[in-house]
Amino acid sequence: MTKEKKALFIIFGGTGDLANRKLYPSLYRLYKNGYLNEHFAVIGTARREWSDEYYREVVVSKVEDLADTKEQAEEFASHFYYQSHNVKDLEHYTTLKNLADRLDDKYQLEGNRMFYLAMSPNFFGIIAENIKEQQLITSTGFNRLIIEKPFGHDYQSALELNTHIRSSFEEDQIYRIDHYLGKEMVQNISTVRFGNQLIESMWNNQYINNIQVTLSESLGVEERGGYYDTSGALRDMVQNHVLQIVALLAMEPPSIMHDNEIRQEKIKALRALRLYSKDEVRLNFVRGQYGHSTVNGETLLGYCEEQNVAEDSQTETFVAGKLFIDNVRWSGVPIYIRTGKRLAEKGTQIDIEFKNIPHQLFQTENDEPLPPNVLSIFISPTEGFSLQLNAKKIGPGVKAEPIKLTSIRSAEETANNPEAYEKLILDCLNGDATNFTHWDEVASSWEFVDRIREAWDETTMEFPNYPSGSMGPIESMYLLKKDGFQWHWSPVKTIADEMTDK
Ligand code: NAD
Repeated sequence: MTKEKKALFIIFGGTGDLANRKLYPSLYRLYKNGYLNEHFAVIGTARREWSDEYYREVVVSKVEDLADTKEQAEEFASHFYYQSHNVKDLEHYTTLKNLADRLDDKYQLEGNRMFYLAMSPNFFGIIAENIKEQQLITSTGFNRLIIEKPFGHDYQSALELNTHIRSSFEEDQIYRIDHYLGKEMVQNISTVRFGNQLIESMWNNQYINNIQVTLSESLGVEERGGYYDTSGALRDMVQNHVLQIVALLAMEPPSIMHDNEIRQEKIKALRALRLYSKDEVRLNFVRGQYGHSTVNGETLLGYCEEQNVAEDSQTETFVAGKLFIDNVRWSGVPIYIRTGKRLAEKGTQIDIEFKNIPHQLFQTENDEPLPPNVLSIFISPTEGFSLQLNAKKIGPGVKAEPIKLTSIRSAEETANNPEAYEKLILDCLNGDATNFTHWDEVASSWEFVDRIREAWDETTMEFPNYPSGSMGPIESMYLLKKDGFQWHWSPVKTIADEMTDK
């Protein structure tokens, strides 16, 4: 059976950053790998007046590095067409429909259409509505709508957006992108859990002490200050990426690895998230904002000094929190999460800390109790695992020491990995929604996040409260310390060390 997919891609926001940096290279890789071949076409739309020729030149420039020859890139780009389009102008949809129908005939696309909304979320509803009203949806093939984040800015706005979109598309036609779900190691969470009896049999509150999830960025807001200042880390990272990872870690095993079954289990896990009262939010959540500092001789701006950010902004660039999943498997196990900008090191890591054996027979060389077993999952940029065990220390006596069994993917292996967007677009072409978020997941996540936001909005913070290049405010260390734990991933030793020394 041929692996070639037949489809017309209509990219709304075809001149934008996402299209240029992610979508064109990903489509190119799918082309190079034979998933797209003769029977595909792309219509890029945006407000600017561009000719097809100019558009193709732009596309070639974005994929040239990936191509064996320039001719190959040009051959790929010859499938691209540009249509100047204002999303609010109804007539433009008729022009778009005529072009889409013509390309459908020319490339024999069998009516398969992928509508990719790579533009401001303010337009998602109106575009979806007009696609339906102006009859761009075909009756012969599949019609799928891919939507970028953010999906609303709270539960109410997300619900309104969803209702608007659902008046044109069915839930199973809507693919809400969370690019973390396209990451190889995020997809590996399920394989490691459900592919290993050793792990899955211990994956519960009898054996696990706590779970830690860190999504750390070393960059600041860069040129995205205007957007970020209306969002903040809670909405930008926790509502989607962090809670999606938590859902994958916490869900029950699905009966089969199929999109409906997996998403049903994730929804159940998210619905079991404990919703906090305002007082509980203050106890269990920490927010921060980075300040001006000098790191390795480089002076870094504080958040409020960044472009397009209000001087007295109360927007958080850091969040840490303690979550509970109230069900039989997870009762009593804290899940600590943290994410932030301008932290010491870029990386996404999960640490699962197991309980110590009830009666300890061994100590370390310094007569200290043995550390717990820890399974670390490195999501990015390092990809791999590490399992910390205790073993006998070489030499006389029976002292023990922690050792690590580590498997890290080589730079070559990770370089050959398909990009997250490439995998997600292919999944969408295949009609596989596993790695896209269902509305019920979005709704539960917003309900959880809204509680935190409401409590925070009642108080003003003394910002900034962490220096660039640290791992966030000291309170995020106390969050664990008061429970007798500490963050396992601690790229800046200073604060963590000071605390364990206390
Ligand atoms: P962008 O501002 O670079 O591009 C927006 C596009 O929309 C441009 O092509 C612009 O011409 C077009 N546009 C704007 N108003 C229009 C109108 N009235 N009619 C027709 N076209 C119009 O934005 P971006 O960074 O590419 O982001 C697009 C979407 O993807 C957003 O929802 C964003 O949140 C999301 N996203 C982007 C990234 C990224 O890396 N850029 C990452 C994650 C999510």
